[in-house]
Amino acid sequence: MTCAEAQELITALIDQELGQAERSSLEEHLSECPGCRLAFEEESALKQKIREASRRINAPAHLRNRILSDPRIFPEKNRSARRWGDYLRPMPALLRPILAFALLLAIALPAFYFFKPRSEPIALSALETYDRFLSGELPVHRTENADEIVRQLTRAVGGHFHPMGYDLSAMNLRPVAGLVREIDGRKVLIAIYQGQGGTLFCYTFIGSEKDAPPNAARFFEAAKKMNFYAFSRGGVNAVLHREGEVICILASEMPMEELLALAKSKARPS
Ligand SMILES: [Zn+2]
Repeated sequence: MTCAEAQELITALIDQELGQAERSSLEEHLSECPGCRLAFEEESALKQKIREASRRINAPAHLRNRILSDPRIFPEKNRSARRWGDYLRPMPALLRPILAFALLLAIALPAFYFFKPRSEPIALSALETYDRFLSGELPVHRTENADEIVRQLTRAVGGHFHPMGYDLSAMNLRPVAGLVREIDGRKVLIAIYQGQGGTLFCYTFIGSEKDAPPNAARFFEAAKKMNFYAFSRGGVNAVLHREGEVICILASEMPMEELLALAKSKARPS
């Protein structure tokens, strides 16, 4: 067996796809040829690494299906009958590990992206919903019934806490919808107010004052003995305060002083 023939069969040997005769002559060649043995060892090690990595990484099923069913990546119709080795075999031996590594990256990178712990504080992540609502990307069920919004949101967290249920009619804002978002494993209740006063989101979730972004400006309100944290994201202003174990964030495009005054006037000392 020549080195070129051996290199062609190395992947198949690792995948245990060789017949007895081919296997014996390849193994004989490997025992005598340090170059091919090195190629074999490197490819075995790479496959082992891929197997280990793929055990730790679980791409979401919908993502896996999308990659596997994308004809640009896998043009063959009869995908399921083929194995990884079949895609690698026709390639020059040198390119095989590179392609395998590229495939690993293609699968692993989106998975890392999905499972990467958010480095952003929950208070800032939550504000994404405000932008998405204004651009119409956030489907909400609108209702005129403010009590129904409070009931629905309270039910969503099994009665553990409830949205603030502020009456903002003096600001020309009335509740129009409620929704629940899970951010960093925490349920966040969102009551949406709209009217001539613009749009205002009231977020509530279980947390502490540490959930305020580190660069937020802190204002101590002596009359209520409460801290208020002001911060912005994009064009959206936000004010965070704590009532017991519940964090409340008011978010709006209204000027920060107005929003801060509103939060101070509505907040209930715990
Ligand atoms: Zn050789």
